[in-house]
Amino acid sequence: MADLKLDSPLQYVKGVGPRKAEAFGRHGLNTVRDLLFYFPRQYLDRTSVVPINKLQVDQPATIIGTVRAHGVLHGRRRRYEVILEDDTGAISLLWFAGLRYWERTFKKGQLFAATGMVSYFRGYQIVHPDLERLEDDSSQMVHAGRIIPVYPQTAELNKAGLSSKSIRRITSFILANLTEQLDDLLPAEVREQSRLIDLHTAIAKIHFPDNREQLEACRRRVAFDELLGFLYLAFRRRARKDQTVKKHKYQPPGDKLRTFKESLPFELTSGQKKVTREIFDDLRSAHPMTRMLQGDVGCGKTVVAVAAAAYVAENKLQAAFMAPTEILAEQHFRTWEPFLNDLGITCELLTSSLKPGEKKRVAEACAGQTVDILFGTHALIYDYVSFKKLGLVIIDEQHRFGVEQRSRLHAKGDNPDLLVMTATPIPRTLALTLYGDLDISTIEGLPPGRKPVRTVWRPHEARDKVHQFVIDEVKKGGQAYIIYPLVEKSELIELESVDDAYAELTQGVFRDLKVGMVHGRIRPSERDEILGHFRDGRIQILMATTVVEVGIDNPNATLMVIEHAERFGLAQLHQLRGRIGRSDKQSTLVALAHPPLSDMARRRLEYFCSTTDGFAIAEADLELRGPGEMFGVKQSGLPELKVARLSSDRDLIEAARNLLTLLHKDNSKPDQVHRRLLKQLQLQADSRSVALGGG
Ligand code: ADP
Ligand code: MG
Repeated sequence: MADLKLDSPLQYVKGVGPRKAEAFGRHGLNTVRDLLFYFPRQYLDRTSVVPINKLQVDQPATIIGTVRAHGVLHGRRRRYEVILEDDTGAISLLWFAGLRYWERTFKKGQLFAATGMVSYFRGYQIVHPDLERLEDDSSQMVHAGRIIPVYPQTAELNKAGLSSKSIRRITSFILANLTEQLDDLLPAEVREQSRLIDLHTAIAKIHFPDNREQLEACRRRVAFDELLGFLYLAFRRRARKDQTVKKHKYQPPGDKLRTFKESLPFELTSGQKKVTREIFDDLRSAHPMTRMLQGDVGCGKTVVAVAAAAYVAENKLQAAFMAPTEILAEQHFRTWEPFLNDLGITCELLTSSLKPGEKKRVAEACAGQTVDILFGTHALIYDYVSFKKLGLVIIDEQHRFGVEQRSRLHAKGDNPDLLVMTATPIPRTLALTLYGDLDISTIEGLPPGRKPVRTVWRPHEARDKVHQFVIDEVKKGGQAYIIYPLVEKSELIELESVDDAYAELTQGVFRDLKVGMVHGRIRPSERDEILGHFRDGRIQILMATTVVEVGIDNPNATLMVIEHAERFGLAQLHQLRGRIGRSDKQSTLVALAHPPLSDMARRRLEYFCSTTDGFAIAEADLELRGPGEMFGVKQSGLPELKVARLSSDRDLIEAARNLLTLLHKDNSKPDQVHRRLLKQLQLQADSRSVALGGG
């Protein structure tokens, strides 16, 4: 059948058939239109393929080469290795799972494109690369300047015979035989202003672009539509929220809150006072709050959230306070319970490592409202936890949670107020646009007397000197963190592990010092004990993995060493740095970088040393990630966008926002173009839900 329409089922497209159609269907791809919106994940061409002798560690790369050898390697962990070679050299590709499958996949002499992060372990390698089997002439096509689309792959698609190559054939067939055009609802003046090409061309050519410039033009157009859809969701959530009325009315702050403030060992900064007022006003308002509290690491967000929880308790409602790690949840609980108890407010802690009987007791207390404030981890979202009168949900380090998790906790109340906190600030302008439905409170400034952390980076050869520096600092009464990227030595990559370093150093240079170690594989009870000892000074040096990244608060720690700092992203380095510089003493951070160092890693480190401003770091992080990297909601707190790029598409974000404002203003006018567009956005929004908090 040559007469292909956009709504034609994929099953009837030449080369598809029932089995493939079913596999497509399970990926939400049912019609021709669906497949046209299934975009390539990457493109192969001369500019994207790197010769093997030009590879750099810690950089993602695509290489094209032939299989020289392949087979299972035995060692501490069995793995499948493929040696891929091109004219300039060879690299090893490794898999630790699915050995049987890989065994069947490769034949000597076959041509593959492999994409992934390059690492080094006795030679260059890529662990678990993405693979694309190429026809023998593709490498010539690539070298002749052709651009070849590579589609996202899953095991299931592969099993049904839908390799990237066969998807490529199907889309190509569709585009050649389609008898109708995609309807472009974007008003012409918007297209002109933002220099956007028409939708049909954009979609057709995003699959088979003639050149890189054309591809970028397609991407921009598709990005605009994506952003418009995303922003529309926020607009709509805002509108819905403003229509919802809370059942409960708050009394003005009373004695409890006054006593709470008086009992604090410090006075709130003006920045903290300002955001506290904003939050309290929201709690008192008739509509539910959806507020993001942001502020640099160490600025003192917790006390503000706890004050809000106390206000909620004063009004006979309950508050849930969720943190991403047990360590952090416990720290919050331990720190604040005494203050709250003094006010007659009861608190409990719920984490997965509680004994079943304890969990039951806490859950029952919560359901019967004998608990006012429940602190905890992800454990709070489980079904057995319910609240009698949940008034406020607080989510600390919100970017560490998925959308689903946040909304499950939120759903345990009847339109409770929502306060999410983050120290990974989203660049201000972006935050305001992307989260149109979120109100944002920013704590400006740090508590008085804080000195910026002095930050330097050194090559790995300086390790011994740096250890001596640690010893000196500790002898002067300070405490230090040393951060490692791994728990145990790995066969994957040559990295320092906390386990080995602990064994080495406690028998070596740190022999006479009190040293502790924490990482994710240490039992929670033991870990808490060690952290407790670190906090009260019985441990001088804490060797740790990034489990201490968020929240840990020990104001006496003034020194941090980060091993393999080249492997961490800017935002993460900044988070780690936030563990020190928490008092009026001068703190120092030494970032140790191991060779070989990529240009990107060097730039990152230099930038990290040049500023302690979290907002500037967030901006730079966005720029440095550069194009091609996806943003995961979880990692960055930023929305998951497939094609749009938050760093370079700001003009599009602005244009999309203006268009939306216009659409809403003109809603009453019978303007055909606008009405149809709005209608389409509504339909699209109904079929998906991206929500930060509730619905
Ligand atoms: P973050 O914003 O990173 O979550 P925290 O809430 O953990 O920061 O606060 C960091 C440290 O600063 C804590 O030890 C806290 O007790 C302290 N702190 C908070 N507010 C003040 C203040 N106004 N004056 C002095 N210290 C404060
Ligand atoms: Mg915090």
